[in-house]
Amino acid sequence: ITDRFAGKTIIVTGAGSGIGRATAVRIAREGGRVIATDVVGDRLDDVRAELADFPVDTVVGDVSEAETIERIMLAAGERVDGLANVAGIMDAFLPPSEVDDATWERVLSVNLTGPMRLTRAVLPLMIAAGSGAIVNVASEAALRGSASGAAYTSSKHAIAGFTKSVAFFHGPQGIRANAVAPGAVATNIEAPMRSDYAAGRIGPILQVVVPPVAQPEQPAAAITWLLSDDSANVNGALLPSDGGWSVI
Ligand code: NAD
Repeated sequence: ITDRFAGKTIIVTGAGSGIGRATAVRIAREGGRVIATDVVGDRLDDVRAELADFPVDTVVGDVSEAETIERIMLAAGERVDGLANVAGIMDAFLPPSEVDDATWERVLSVNLTGPMRLTRAVLPLMIAAGSGAIVNVASEAALRGSASGAAYTSSKHAIAGFTKSVAFFHGPQGIRANAVAPGAVATNIEAPMRSDYAAGRIGPILQVVVPPVAQPEQPAAAITWLLSDDSANVNGALLPSDGGWSVI
């Protein structure tokens, strides 16, 4: 265990479960102050109990709502060194011919608009400080069209693009923005298959190329590396953490 995050304040969304929780735990154990946020309060209570000896503040709220962003920023205070946008939801594997407006809007709000708003909120503090690291969680679905439905795939390609936009515009101001693309990870994420057409199209692919299933600590290690100064020369990257699934 190192102290890579000593003296740093880092916001983690989706910190109540899975990859976000593993990220929050690792940052705290490496000396950072964590602003842990999630829409499910009970999950944050668990995280706070696990990290009772560490500086953790929790904020319960939906990251797609602007007022949640305000409360996260109030909890963080004057200094934000890092932001990990991990919270995300899937889309029932609905293909473009079947996606409904509610699914589309909800998935884009949580997976793209929330991270954009939180990034926009932390940037002035980071720019004033001359440094900051932002890590967005994309997906295998940011790399190809076969890993999920239309809304999720679009949201994850878009967050990869947003990441590059932040790196391009704000890199000269000391900001680094990178994304991690996890493959299959054992978490609580709900991934119902609600399309017979999608099941027929994706099922055979998954049988031929079986994804290795990772534990949340594995993508969290990539996220924390990108949040830390160890990755100082890396900006605008989309890093798969998928056991090599994407190269097949
Ligand atoms: P998870 O469901 O275990 O954890 C996600 C957390 O985000 C949950 O605690 C949930 O309550 C929270 N959350 C959901 N919607 C929210 C909202 N609107 N506002 C605030 N919090 C919200 O899932 P996970 O697998 O750890 O997912 C984390 C990220 O990893 C997501 O962006 C997901 O798309 C991505 N991802 C996961 C996998 C996988 O196989 N598990 C693969 C690729 C990408």
